[in-house]
Amino acid sequence: MAKRMRTIEDVGEFDFIRSILNSCIISKEKIICGIGDDCAVIGPYDGSLLLITTDLLAEGVHFLPGKISPIHLGEKAVAVNLSDIAAMGGTATHLLVSLAIPRSTPIKTIHSLYSGIKSMCRRYSVNLIGGDTSSSLNKLFISITVIGEALEGEVLYRNGAHPGDAVYVTETLGDAAAGLEILTGNASAQKALSSRLIKAQIRPVPFLEVGRKIAESHLASAMIDLSDGLLSDLNHICIASNTGARLLQSSLPLSNDLKTLCKINRLDPYKFVLTGGEDYRLLVTVPDKNSKAFQGIFKNRKSCQVHRIGQIIEETGIKIVKQDGTEESLRATGFDHFCRS
Ligand code: ADP
Ligand code: MG
Repeated sequence: MAKRMRTIEDVGEFDFIRSILNSCIISKEKIICGIGDDCAVIGPYDGSLLLITTDLLAEGVHFLPGKISPIHLGEKAVAVNLSDIAAMGGTATHLLVSLAIPRSTPIKTIHSLYSGIKSMCRRYSVNLIGGDTSSSLNKLFISITVIGEALEGEVLYRNGAHPGDAVYVTETLGDAAAGLEILTGNASAQKALSSRLIKAQIRPVPFLEVGRKIAESHLASAMIDLSDGLLSDLNHICIASNTGARLLQSSLPLSNDLKTLCKINRLDPYKFVLTGGEDYRLLVTVPDKNSKAFQGIFKNRKSCQVHRIGQIIEETGIKIVKQDGTEESLRATGFDHFCRS
């Protein structure tokens, strides 16, 4: 029997990225960080570093036509990129937009998309400086690249976590994934609750100011934004830092909205908290001796709460201490574009 050709689905998103790491950097000069973090970091240029990140939104994969308005889609496409700048502690400065558009798309839709893109640019003082436009066979693709900057020594990477560091997360987790469950008809709730959870899915907020404050404080050891889900993104920090992590289930921050939705629909809220993606919160590791001072950053900040959810440990893998005190090893699942499970 002929051998079946191995596909990208067999490999998975993250092993695929690992498989292309060879021979990427031709000249190491000024490359501080290439593939493997939320942004590439280049420099220094007069004491400043350049941050570059790109994210693609594909129709049917990242957004469902008819479930998100073009304006909100434009806003979200920018927000998810800004979140990667936030995850390094940077300031976003410039943005490029590339589109592949089905021929039958109303021009009004594209202009609305740009209204969303431009309103985010205004809100976060980012200049739209270029892009590319192509036709597409039948789906809309939006690729955005954001350029940012940070002071040398004030960037946080995924690889700085050490055993003993506390693990923190900003705000609550799981609402965005719960919103998707409502949008796709797998859960339902009364109107006000539904629209709050759908808003969490459709209109994520990038933690740019908070990310910068954290990096400036020099109190944290590593940071990432939560795009693929807590377990998956914490695992990125653990792999990059060659550590593991232990989470405390009782410390995981769930919103009242998530609790209510799960109760009504008999769903497990922890599934959303651990593996639901697209919350775009910041996950931060902090050496224990800095923990108090770190919490101080958030003291008078009503708009952003921080929660201590666990600890970095030497043994690799992620474990969770459940409410009954038992400990369980968890598979670092989350969103993988090609994963079958
Ligand atoms: P994030 O979720 O923070 O956007 P990703 O998981 O998309 O990060 O990407 C992880 C790293 O892999 C980043 O450094 C990104 O630039 C890099 N990367 C992803 N896809 C590719 C690709 N096709 N070619 C080169 N680098 C890639
Ligand atoms: Mg990221």
